[in-house]
Amino acid sequence: MRKEDLKSLVTQMYEELLSNIDMQKDATKDQVVTFLQDSANTIASLEENKLDSTEHAKLAFTNAFKDVATTTLSSYKDTNDVFEELAKVHQETVAECSEIHINFPEIREKFNLIQEQMSTEVERANNIITDLSTQVKELERNSNLDALTKVFNRRALTSYLDKICSKKEIAYELHLLILDIDDFKVVNDTYGHIAGDKILIFIANILRRTLRDGDKIFRYGGEEFIIILNRIDKETCEKVTQRLLKLISSNQLIYKGKTLNVTMSIGATKYYQGDTPDDIIARADKALYRSKKAGKNRMSSEVITDGN
Ligand code: GH3
Ligand code: MG
Ligand code: MG
Repeated sequence: MRKEDLKSLVTQMYEELLSNIDMQKDATKDQVVTFLQDSANTIASLEENKLDSTEHAKLAFTNAFKDVATTTLSSYKDTNDVFEELAKVHQETVAECSEIHINFPEIREKFNLIQEQMSTEVERANNIITDLSTQVKELERNSNLDALTKVFNRRALTSYLDKICSKKEIAYELHLLILDIDDFKVVNDTYGHIAGDKILIFIANILRRTLRDGDKIFRYGGEEFIIILNRIDKETCEKVTQRLLKLISSNQLIYKGKTLNVTMSIGATKYYQGDTPDDIIARADKALYRSKKAGKNRMSSEVITDGN
């Protein structure tokens, strides 16, 4: 191939390229590069001996360029179509998303409002609870009854003994018993505190049922009771005490299918003119201690040495 023919061929290729680019709106640099690359490959693959004339070669090159250019640009168009399709889908998706848009600020505001209302309610409830517990405490303080056993409480005992001990003279005999449940800790440990509470109620009921109206029953401490027997002599007091011991030890409490037995120890003493509340309780306590020491489930008396 002559030099002139080659120059003319390249010029034609160039023109061909330009016309193909012009046909395509916004052709990219990559497409042009690909086009030139493909053209160069086509030229390289031509066999010179098969080109019998310059015109034949020109035609072959031109056709080859056309093919390559058309393929390149159609592939570009396909790609572009895919992109356009994607863009459309994207647009539609965005449009749909905006329709189901979640109004976060509004939700947050409502949530804050609910939270504020809840705090107000909780505060109100707390105030009511505080008021109620103050009232309960007040009622307990003013009450003379033990909440669990419903016998008189220690506060009532204090005022009752104060009243007795402040009298110049008492025309009748009066005895005080202090009763303590034996091995109550074991009962609590074995059957639980609730079972222990039931026993306290059970004992209070036995005491209430057995004693006369004029007698007073107090819960002195945890598992200790005090009884004041009015208008009674020492012998009768002892009989009453023995009866109590027998009733307590022979009655059984069934709790959750279990049979609970308890016994009590008792200390008894007489009121002596001039006793303070502490004196009479200390004497009964001394007697109680002796009952415990002697083996429990029994009564002991403590008298003042003049023998009365
Ligand atoms: P003792 O025979 O020497 O009196 O022995 P005890 O186990 O009865 O005496 P202790 O003083 O060792 O234990 C008294 C027990 O009474 C311990 C305590 O848990 C229980 N108790 C005190 N008050 C209550 C109460 O209100 N309910 C219950 N369930 N148990 C109580
Ligand atoms: Mg005790
Ligand atoms: Mg005890």
